[in-house]
Amino acid sequence: LRTGDFSMPWFGMDIGGTLTKLVYFEPKDITPDEQDQEAEILRNIRRYLTKNSAYGKTGHRDTHLQMDNVEIRKRRGSLHFIRFQTTDMSNFLLLAKQKGMAELVTTVCATGGGAFKFENEFRQQVNMKLAKFDELDTLIKGILFAEVQNPTECYFYENARDIMKSEKRAFDFSKPYPFILVNVGSGVSILAVYGPDNYKRVSGTSLGGGTFLGLCCLLTGCNSFEEAIQLATKGDNRKVDKLVRDIYGGDYDRFGLTGDLVASSFGQMHIKDKRSSVSREDLANATLVTITNNIGSIARMCALNEKMDKVVFVGNFLRVNPISMKLLAYAMEFWSNGTLKALFLEHEGYFGALGCLLQFNG
Ligand code: ADP
Repeated sequence: LRTGDFSMPWFGMDIGGTLTKLVYFEPKDITPDEQDQEAEILRNIRRYLTKNSAYGKTGHRDTHLQMDNVEIRKRRGSLHFIRFQTTDMSNFLLLAKQKGMAELVTTVCATGGGAFKFENEFRQQVNMKLAKFDELDTLIKGILFAEVQNPTECYFYENARDIMKSEKRAFDFSKPYPFILVNVGSGVSILAVYGPDNYKRVSGTSLGGGTFLGLCCLLTGCNSFEEAIQLATKGDNRKVDKLVRDIYGGDYDRFGLTGDLVASSFGQMHIKDKRSSVSREDLANATLVTITNNIGSIARMCALNEKMDKVVFVGNFLRVNPISMKLLAYAMEFWSNGTLKALFLEHEGYFGALGCLLQFNG
């Protein structure tokens, strides 16, 4: 792929454990000459992607995340953000084939475990070669690019100590280093980032977004992430968890633990009466709170260890999920006595795919 080469569409793809993220660059500065030369297949693909916002069974374009007037490899255009379930990969490949992708000789920059797992399928079905990149390298590249392109990319919660009152506010992330980066996907990776090309993976946990969704489906019979979040919004974890006050009758003053803190997640569910009085909503809420607080706790220890005060949370677990974001903002602030700040980024789960699109030829 040369600078300005439009013989193939520019994609960046992150094939994750749950979701596949696709970032597509739509050139907007095509000259009449180029228009004449542009292969019809390429034009059709561009039209198909940009005219629709739903593709196949599970494909969605997040139109609210579209970035216009960006410059990549000396070309101007728009970035489109598309996701679908990784389990739907065979349908995606079929669709790509129907749109003529197999007739183009294309290389797609890809990251995530699926870039390895599906490599043969891509070549056999749609004649696509995958240029593979590391998912953590591309994650950071994507974040830095988005921050420069979009002045309101980064935000935090004001009044984080009062969840009922906390509100989203823009954060100036133009001098980002150093920071802790917590990527909450199916599982969780935690990085300490010292500079643009200087980071290490300091921790992780298998209790991530996939765990929330899996447990929630088991406990409530729900069938999608959106449904799980909706249930959680209407539920109350205090009917499920054992709080400090359920054990102490009030606060545990000596160590500053107030009565309404969770002492034991799901700690009331061994009691038959309690079990029979909880709703699906309460169970969904308790699952969300359990997973979120555990991630918050590990992230905070990492920040302490690395002596960093900014903790950036990304990944699709935070999609349409203000409960978790507010809870994380609260946890960072409360448990650090205000020294730690939780930050969030608008393009949540797309940074790996975005970084991938940028990686080609540096
Ligand atoms: P991965 O690369 O591991 O797939 P993501 O950053 O894409 O990670 O996050 C996946 C997680 O995002 C899921 O485990 C789930 O908690 C959450 N999620 C958000 N939206 C969806 C969705 N539409 N379908 C499935 N999971 C979703």
